[in-house]
Amino acid sequence: MRYSEMHLPTAREIPSDAEVTSHQLMIRAGMIRKLTSGIYSYLPLGYRVIRKVEQIVREEMNRAGAQEVHLPMVQPVELWQESGRWIHYGKELLRFRDRHEREYCLGPTHEEVITDLIRNDIKTYRQLPRNLYQIQTKFRDEVRPRFGVMRCREFGMKDAYSYDADEAGAEKSYEKMFVAYNNIFNRCGLKFRPVEADSGSIGGKYSHEFMVMADSGEDAIVFCEKCAYAANLEKAEIGEPEKKNIAEKDWLSLESVHTPDACTIEEVSAFLKVKPQDIVKTLIYNADGKSCAVLIRGDQDVNEIKVKNYLGTAELELADEGMILKVTDAPRGFAGAVKINTRVIADYSVMNMINFVTGANKQDYHFKNVNIGRDFNVEAFIDLRVAQENDSCPRCGGKIKFARGIEVGHVFKLGTKYSKAMKAAFLDKDGQEKIMIMGCYGIGIGRTVAACIEQNFDENGIIWPMPLAPYQVIITPVNINEEEVMKASESIYASMLACGIEVILDDRDERAGVKFKDADLIGIPIRITVGQKNLAQGNIELKIRKTAENRLYPLQKIVEEVKALIDQELNPAA
Ligand code: ATP
Ligand code: MG
Repeated sequence: MRYSEMHLPTAREIPSDAEVTSHQLMIRAGMIRKLTSGIYSYLPLGYRVIRKVEQIVREEMNRAGAQEVHLPMVQPVELWQESGRWIHYGKELLRFRDRHEREYCLGPTHEEVITDLIRNDIKTYRQLPRNLYQIQTKFRDEVRPRFGVMRCREFGMKDAYSYDADEAGAEKSYEKMFVAYNNIFNRCGLKFRPVEADSGSIGGKYSHEFMVMADSGEDAIVFCEKCAYAANLEKAEIGEPEKKNIAEKDWLSLESVHTPDACTIEEVSAFLKVKPQDIVKTLIYNADGKSCAVLIRGDQDVNEIKVKNYLGTAELELADEGMILKVTDAPRGFAGAVKINTRVIADYSVMNMINFVTGANKQDYHFKNVNIGRDFNVEAFIDLRVAQENDSCPRCGGKIKFARGIEVGHVFKLGTKYSKAMKAAFLDKDGQEKIMIMGCYGIGIGRTVAACIEQNFDENGIIWPMPLAPYQVIITPVNINEEEVMKASESIYASMLACGIEVILDDRDERAGVKFKDADLIGIPIRITVGQKNLAQGNIELKIRKTAENRLYPLQKIVEEVKALIDQELNPAA
């Protein structure tokens, strides 16, 4: 493409409303423009990168045996009522009515639509397994759209759904997608990590998020310094500590102390002059309408997802004043497990504690020298806390470290959640009716592009890895008014086009410095500079964007050299 004809509005100024680098650079490089909050247009340069990611995704999905479909974005209320999500999905679901007052939503995801399709078309085990995918626009009315296309409201997603006849099949489908995702993000040239994510009742192995490592990432990740263990912070497990032998003779006698107005751990710790590590926090939760007390050491935080999974509840929230009063007979801030009127579970951090402090279930009072086994009992000691840096790895005992990441993809075994609610059944070999087992697999296309920029930029702009580059080469004639220079530039341009190289000819009548700045900003991996001085020696300059390395090649050889360089970058293994 000739630069003079391109719609490529670049800018030098950093847009004031863009917080992260990728957002700033996508605006400055003329890739995207904001229409309204969380809704963006892709300009030609941006859309070329989107198409590159889509193509890689398509090739790897097809290779894994998935088949491409295209489902409607407008979805009728009835399907969402069947799955139960019309009520549960909340405000991210954009709902509207047509002229007949019928209700619809804009698809934020497509489990309902595809399950409806599958249940009507699939009757027997012979038609299973199936994996269907699409690359399509989603709408989610995010509370806080931010970071440009990283977290927006309208965005392109690849979503795939697998249907299997049995557990073993579903696991195989999951594994295939896991492999495909690794291939996709490797081919995109990203530094990423699949991390274990929460999968509710289904279990540890069956939900992975693919995280692109970046300090600007919204997600906290834990990983082991020694082994391959990596997880989302929400999911990060903590191994069971060794149970210490507690000698009853060490138990001091229970003491009630007056602690006026001391409610929080900090206040109690200051008032009684004890460390937070010697206090047990008692949190009262409302789990699907029933109360439960959760005990944890004063310096630790409860991971509510772990509590929810242990209790197997749909909804979990901290209890309100009414429930606290009912359970503890005291206002908020004085709860403790001694004579409490509810079930009690405790985090591992409490297991080996003795003579600790808790609330006394009485306003303005705490207990000192509380001991489990004498003063109260717990239903179970389990892993309920948020992991901390330097915790020991649940797999190998190594040290846990923290990092930040951007979730670009998610593979998830759904089980029968939707197929059961929507009755996606089939006849098995023995003529028995069974429910299909599902998996779902998403990749954010725009977010992957933004994440790639977060890993590949410098002070001058974007540095595209070859597989995602909107163009592979930019030819920069230093001065377009010099006949020899333009003749050589045009001839290189024509030869490159002829051998399938994606190339821009910067034919603008601008100073070389301006052209170099734009080439760097839009991140084209290879720049060919055609200048009078080198040309007089029969030479052309090649500059690598990533390393800033300069090389000279004879005019006759330049196209061949560039082609080889591109091929090598696209297929590093070959
Ligand atoms: P997040 O936790 O970031 O909100 P999610 O769990 O809601 O993500 P999924 O429902 O698993 O995301 O969607 C699959 C993929 O779609 C994500 O891995 C991400 O790449 C992309 N995605 C999700 N929400 C957005 C958004 N608001 N803007 C851009 N991409 C998104
Ligand atoms: Mg979300």
